[in-house]
Amino acid sequence: MSNEKWIESLRTQSRRLRTLKKSPLIDLVHDLPWVRIRDLADQFYCELKVDLELRFGKKYAPEIKKGSEVHKKVDSSLKRVNLRKLIEDIVSGKSLFAKFTVDFKFEDVPIVGELDQAFFREAKPLYLLELKSTNYNLDRIYTGEKIQALLYGLALERMGFDCSKLCLAVVKVRRDLAEEKYSKLASKVVQELDLVRSQESRGIGKKKLESEYIHFWEYNGLGELEGEIREKLNYWTKIRDPKPVQNPNKCKWCAYKSFCIK
Ligand code: SF4
Repeated sequence: MSNEKWIESLRTQSRRLRTLKKSPLIDLVHDLPWVRIRDLADQFYCELKVDLELRFGKKYAPEIKKGSEVHKKVDSSLKRVNLRKLIEDIVSGKSLFAKFTVDFKFEDVPIVGELDQAFFREAKPLYLLELKSTNYNLDRIYTGEKIQALLYGLALERMGFDCSKLCLAVVKVRRDLAEEKYSKLASKVVQELDLVRSQESRGIGKKKLESEYIHFWEYNGLGELEGEIREKLNYWTKIRDPKPVQNPNKCKWCAYKSFCIK
């Protein structure tokens, strides 16, 4: 597979996003220029919550705030390289971790996201790591988490990367995981997944490290979720109003309870 498409896609990305900001392609809720992947994934938790967050700004329940601070630590431990260097390094075939913006269109709706970490080898994305920090149910993966990783995979594919060997991994860590462990975590995950894939041709499953869990599966397009994503986009394109979640347990922890007119 040629490298031309993804190189062109990365090189023209900032111009493309600037143009979208000035003259949006499509009329989206809250005058947004695009839909963010993480918002689209959060829709699977509660769509009304996503809408309230866009309307009133980000609010955190106390527990969640800790989680977002953890995410910032991880972000700062991974250096962003300049685009030219990133392209050169990927094309050279060396093994590397990369963090960059991805964008694509799903039936005229621009979708944009920021990868947590992608691991490249032989000029292909091999692992996409999505980090989640929580103190509960590390051994479980939720639909929104799965969708988020899947949409990053789809974005890489639509941008022209060869995703034939791509494995998606949601890595769940405890919020109190020691800071020094973060920098080593991604390499450890890649080692573990390399091992699994060397033993089985198609890796899928769950693996425990120390307290962390890796939930992983091979990327194979959107499959049956395509219709569901299309339906979720009806909210963004103003075809319908946002829907509240029907599970009262989710509302218990919601920072938007006082704004919610469910
Ligand atoms: S209180 Fe419940 S329905 Fe309302 S925004 Fe929060 S999670 Fe959604």
